[in-house]
Amino acid sequence: AIKAEARDLNFFYSNGARALKGITMPLYENKITALIGPSGCGKSTFLRCFNRMHDLYPGNKYQGEIVMHPDNTNVLDSGVDPIEVRMRISMVFQKPNPFPKSIYENVAYGLRVRGENNKRIMDDKVEEALKGAALWNEVKDRLHDLAFNLSGGQQQRLCIARALATDPEIMLFDEPTSALDPIATANIEELMVELRSKLTILVVTHNMQQAARVSDYTAYMYLGELIEYDDTDKIFTNP
Ligand code: ADP
Ligand code: ADP
Repeated sequence: AIKAEARDLNFFYSNGARALKGITMPLYENKITALIGPSGCGKSTFLRCFNRMHDLYPGNKYQGEIVMHPDNTNVLDSGVDPIEVRMRISMVFQKPNPFPKSIYENVAYGLRVRGENNKRIMDDKVEEALKGAALWNEVKDRLHDLAFNLSGGQQQRLCIARALATDPEIMLFDEPTSALDPIATANIEELMVELRSKLTILVVTHNMQQAARVSDYTAYMYLGELIEYDDTDKIFTNP
């Protein structure tokens, strides 16, 4: 089933630059879609539409729709609260970016934004999210340590736990392993494949082997356009 789809999506930066040109693309439920293409082709710009990140800068403009199923919410609709959108569609960035807070508070963040303040419920959710990010065993005895004391790979899994805490339906990964060593990279790839059974994933990557290893579908962008979209197997066996 289709979980979300961009429909004739155009995006203009505040300086007038048209960074996305009529993108129409599905995201299939419980699948991983890899987004590839040369630097500057619009991959990050596309990702940032899904969680309304561009709203943070005045003058940026969307045209077209990103529709979620089954409820048919257009996440770009100005009547839809971007905070709500970010609970349903959460983002993991290239560089791990935990808040300058404890491990626990990093994961609890989205729950607090949502208004949750029951300690039992928070504790359970924090544990569940850390387990979901394959980090629980490493941090369960140091939940009140600062997040910055973790290794880079652990910090990235913490950011994944933070994203998981609000039970998102879609997770966006923007080059999630390019700042990590090979072992941490393998851990994150394995984690994405595990998370796929629970949610829908869109991952931007420079790394073709990574796209081939983890994704079900591959989309290729060039100069703001979607040039190719197909089963990953087909993309990587065609010359
Ligand atoms: P990618 O993620 O594929 O490297 P981006 O989405 O970052 O590409 O960039 C797409 C295009 O939008 C590029 O031409 C880039 O220069 C331009 N761009 C990115 N950020 C901004 C911005 N804040 N203001 C104006 N243009 C931007
Ligand atoms: P950098 O240029 O080092 O990435 P910036 O502070 O310029 O750092 O921007 C941080 C992030 O926010 C960048 O990834 C950039 O693409 C994004 N960004 C900056 N300006 C805009 C804008 N006007 N609209 C959307 N995203 C923006």
